[in-house]
Amino acid sequence: MLLIIGLVVTGLIWALIYFRARGYIWALSGVIPLVTWGFLDPTRIVAQAFAWFALVVLCTPFIYRPLRRKFVSEKVFSIFKNSLPKMSKSEKEALDAGTVWWDAELFGGRPNWNKLIEYSKPQLTEDEQKFIDGPVEELCSMLNDWAITRNNDLPEDVWQYIKEEGFFGMIIPKKYGGHGFSALAHSSVVMKIASRSVTAAVTIMVPNSLGPAELLLQYGTDEQQSHYLPLLASGKEIPCFALTGPEAGSDAMSIPDNGVICKAEYNGEKDVLGIRINWEKRYITLGPVATLLGLAFHLYDPDHLIGEVDDIGITLALIPTTIKGIEIGHRHFPLDIPFQNGPNRGKDVFIPMDMLIGGQDRVGEGWKMLMECLATGRSISLPALSTGAGKLVCRSTGAYARIRKQFNLPIGKFEGVEEALTQMAGMTYQMDAVRQVTAVAIDEGESPSVISAIAKYHLTEKMRKVINHAMDVQGGSSICMGPRNIIARIYQSIPISITVEGANILTRSMIIFGQGAMRCHPNILNIINSVQIDNPQKAIIEFDRLFFKQIRFAASNLARTLFTGLTNAKLVMTPIKSREKIYYQQLSRMSSAFALLSDVFITTLGAELKRKEKISGRLGDILSELYIASTVLKHYQNQGSHQQDYELVQWSCENSLYNIEHSIDDLLNNFPIKTIGWILKKIIFPYGKQYIKSSDRTGAVIANKLLEPCPTRFRLTQDIFIPHNTDDQLGRLESALTRVIAAEPIEKYINESIKKNIISKTPQSSLLERAVISRVITPEQADIVRAANTARRDVIMVDEFSQDFSEHFDPVTSPLNDDTVVSLNPTHNKLS
Ligand SMILES: Cc1cc2nc3c(=O)[nH]c(=O)nc-3n(C[C@H](O)[C@H](O)[C@H](O)COP(=O)(O)OP(=O)(O)OC[C@H]3O[C@@H](n4cnc5c(N)ncnc54)[C@H](O)[C@@H]3O)c2cc1C
Repeated sequence: MLLIIGLVVTGLIWALIYFRARGYIWALSGVIPLVTWGFLDPTRIVAQAFAWFALVVLCTPFIYRPLRRKFVSEKVFSIFKNSLPKMSKSEKEALDAGTVWWDAELFGGRPNWNKLIEYSKPQLTEDEQKFIDGPVEELCSMLNDWAITRNNDLPEDVWQYIKEEGFFGMIIPKKYGGHGFSALAHSSVVMKIASRSVTAAVTIMVPNSLGPAELLLQYGTDEQQSHYLPLLASGKEIPCFALTGPEAGSDAMSIPDNGVICKAEYNGEKDVLGIRINWEKRYITLGPVATLLGLAFHLYDPDHLIGEVDDIGITLALIPTTIKGIEIGHRHFPLDIPFQNGPNRGKDVFIPMDMLIGGQDRVGEGWKMLMECLATGRSISLPALSTGAGKLVCRSTGAYARIRKQFNLPIGKFEGVEEALTQMAGMTYQMDAVRQVTAVAIDEGESPSVISAIAKYHLTEKMRKVINHAMDVQGGSSICMGPRNIIARIYQSIPISITVEGANILTRSMIIFGQGAMRCHPNILNIINSVQIDNPQKAIIEFDRLFFKQIRFAASNLARTLFTGLTNAKLVMTPIKSREKIYYQQLSRMSSAFALLSDVFITTLGAELKRKEKISGRLGDILSELYIASTVLKHYQNQGSHQQDYELVQWSCENSLYNIEHSIDDLLNNFPIKTIGWILKKIIFPYGKQYIKSSDRTGAVIANKLLEPCPTRFRLTQDIFIPHNTDDQLGRLESALTRVIAAEPIEKYINESIKKNIISKTPQSSLLERAVISRVITPEQADIVRAANTARRDVIMVDEFSQDFSEHFDPVTSPLNDDTVVSLNPTHNKLS
């Protein structure tokens, strides 16, 4: 009997911890079994009295709050208050910026998958789709990336077209003459253009990202909005935004550029209240051609012309570049990608107060404004560019690997190449999942700051890996540059994406977990805020409530982690019943382990964690992998759960789980107290290492899908620009792929005939004729093989130049004969 009671009580305690029960539920859960016991076995009075006593002792501190406040919370409160790091206003503003979304569920240790499933599917409006099929398609066909690089700029007609079609006004509402596009449409446009030319994509992406238009929309005065937004939408004004300078890169808050409030003559008027600014900026995209300069500077008011404060803080202005004292126009040369980028300087430039974004009311709010806008732009631009690049590379390198033969086999059939292709496809699938799911979150009103950092960091890193694989697979043909080489420019551009909008090392090691812990953790920020409440009594009451909530939260994560570890998460309930259910379950398990580890590290390291970037980086990696895998599951569902794509889901989730385990292992191997590290490992992985990388078989299935026109390949590379003619390398590859595949069975048949001595192997040059004469194949079949050989040869050739590169010769490859040139079916890239 005692054993049964013992087991029931243990199970009950476990369940109470697991479900984060409140104090009174604990007490009730103790009372009910004790009363039942009393009825069933009234003879054991001593044992029961002892149990009642234990229950009262255990529960009173949790239910009777004054007691627990006095003996527990007050003491913890003072320790906590003294150890709290001081946070500057700007740091606090950066932390407060944006919203939290699915990241908060993952941080909470018990993600509600129903929520994820119910988020909307990506859907463009009719107007948005028309724009992508019309002006975007047209722009892409105008872009010749090789010529752009040779000329160090976009051609004049392209600039004109971009302005006329409102590419700079995608985020500007229709009432101001812009397109008023959704985040999804904005992302789709950038992605498609990026699949054609990184230079053009960056040129278009910047004004639509963190820049004057976004800042005006969020903070501009009515006059500023109605004056500037139509000019920006029509391309009559070219904007740039200048924050970075020689002394302030990643640490942008420390800009030395300064403005002093004063009175001066302006436009013939005397004693105009304004600001005299001095600045030195560099790396500014569109800076050399900008007509409207968004400028961040530190504002001072030593003469107290607008208030009592001397040091007002970072402030933003919108300044016509024609104003006296501005030096603009020089260019940097960023890695051979000739989008307009350069320095600018201002010497004693006087601007009236109405040039401040948001007017005088917004002085000193610059950092907050920037941080809030950053979350949206960073979720869209570089994720879209990275995905576009990934899709192009998958499409072209997959085709190349089927067309290019070595050792008498398409190189894509060799396991080594297969491995690279698998990685490329898997990571591109992940990129598209993160891109689309995040864009939809923005369209639903979120401005997810932590997720934007995850998307920026991981998609640019994945793009780097994908392009590296592609370069390896395409060998010399990816190295020799020229119009035929459509992937080298992406390879060259990678460090730009890695560096801008928050350099990647910093983003991974400081921002993702650092900001996540503050914003997404259910209790941390509230606890910090409670300590800062002015009224000490109120502060303690609030602290006490949150502190015990946190204890319940941490205990539950511990119980959940151990329980899901012991049961291999088989009992975790998910709304999905199909085979991907296991991934939902394992992600729930790892979310709980992540919540547990976050608390362990936050508690043991406290403010030190800010400097422990290796720990913060690995915790950030776990959060990121949880997010990436969640978006993959959602993306699969959004696309209709096509079974042919299942291996991509499998590969992605298995790799994410593997990476999570790897990060946990690294974290705990480096835990300062070895025994605790060991115990935590046993709690999280009670049976030892759990996750393995995706199998070779899965990898082979994925890689093979890149080697032939099939629905998975089309879906994976959907919505990039596919040229419809064979003068273009991607068009050439697409056409050759179809031809090569058509010829393969015929070639196989010829080879079998050679083996059977029906025809001889040599001379190769007359093989087809002999095969026809011997009636091994028909003349029509010989033509198919000939066309495939011509197309294959055309694809594998690289460009040649004159000795001193002064003249560009046509490639010496034999182009396709006129009669074999086919225009690709425009519906080739569409899925029925
Ligand atoms: C092509 C290009 C276009 C750009 N466009 C614009 C623009 O339009 N407007 C604008 O204002 N700026 C722009 N920038 C500037 C860009 O935002 C900065 O380059 C970026 O912030 C990094 O600054 P930095 O290059 O000076 O590197 P640094 O700040 O010197 O950083 C160097 C390295 O140190 C790392 N690091 C720094 N601090 C930490 C830390 N605490 N923890 C871990 N690692 C750290 C960084 O991650 C990086 O890897 C552009 C830059 C480039 C190259």
